[in-house]
Amino acid sequence: MTSTAFITHKDCWLHNMGTHHPESPERLGAINDRLIAAGLDMYLSFYDAPTATVEQLSRAHPKEHVEELLASVPDHGIRHLDPDTALCPNSMKAALRSAGAGILATDLVLSGQAENAFCAIRPPGHHAEAQKAMGFCFFNNVAVAIRHALEVHGLKRVAVVDFDVHHGNGTEDIFKDDPRVMMVSIFQHPFYPYSGADNPAPNMENVPLKAGSRGDVFREAVTNIWLPALRNHAPEAIFISAGFDAHYEDDMGSMGLVEADYIWVTEQLKQVAAEFSKRRIISLLEGGYSLSCLARSVVAHIKTLADL
Ligand SMILES: [Zn+2]
Repeated sequence: MTSTAFITHKDCWLHNMGTHHPESPERLGAINDRLIAAGLDMYLSFYDAPTATVEQLSRAHPKEHVEELLASVPDHGIRHLDPDTALCPNSMKAALRSAGAGILATDLVLSGQAENAFCAIRPPGHHAEAQKAMGFCFFNNVAVAIRHALEVHGLKRVAVVDFDVHHGNGTEDIFKDDPRVMMVSIFQHPFYPYSGADNPAPNMENVPLKAGSRGDVFREAVTNIWLPALRNHAPEAIFISAGFDAHYEDDMGSMGLVEADYIWVTEQLKQVAAEFSKRRIISLLEGGYSLSCLARSVVAHIKTLADL
């Protein structure tokens, strides 16, 4: 059996953008319930996420932008940064734990204390550009974790894999000029945030998929484009922007993935990680808004990570 770390924090429940906002605290509750119902909690090592420091966040975002965001929380009520993205008084507590979870996951996996790790966190991060919070995201959690792996742990090459239904424009923005990082992604196109259809740099393999695409199209893209690109890059660790909103039952997008597809892609990534990366996988929750299929998909992903 594989040692899998599960990292979360109760502060991640405190970020609340309004009663009807789909990026809700209940997402973490659904994952937690399903994890326990599946009996998975007995097999994972649980950790509380620390708070990320300004120094850690500043490896992916300019320090002034980090400080501006930290200072922008309202004293009460909700402050909108864009129509989708808002701050409540506790939002930065949650955002710092989300980014901190990725840092701890990286430390645990790169030090060999865990073979892989899953971060059950919110707010998500992959739309957060170096200098812009957007699309429910404030700090780019996976980018902060990757820069920590590169700058603190001294890794030379890593990969980031993004199977969220939306294009990870923020991750692309941060790494488009950083050839140490190979990014592979699929996303529904045309669709929010309307980026990613042309590859901006040799270290990006974005695969736009039409609305309605199902597992067969997804698996073909992974097999023909992602896996050769990943093997060519030979990453020392694989990071996953694990969004589950490409699920058939998730109304946020119009794609048709199911749990079996998430299991399959996780197996493929484990295989690449076994060949090149000392099995090291660090997975961070991104999207996924229909509570039932989000929780089932996360559990399927973690079970596969943990060889259960
Ligand atoms: Zn998404």
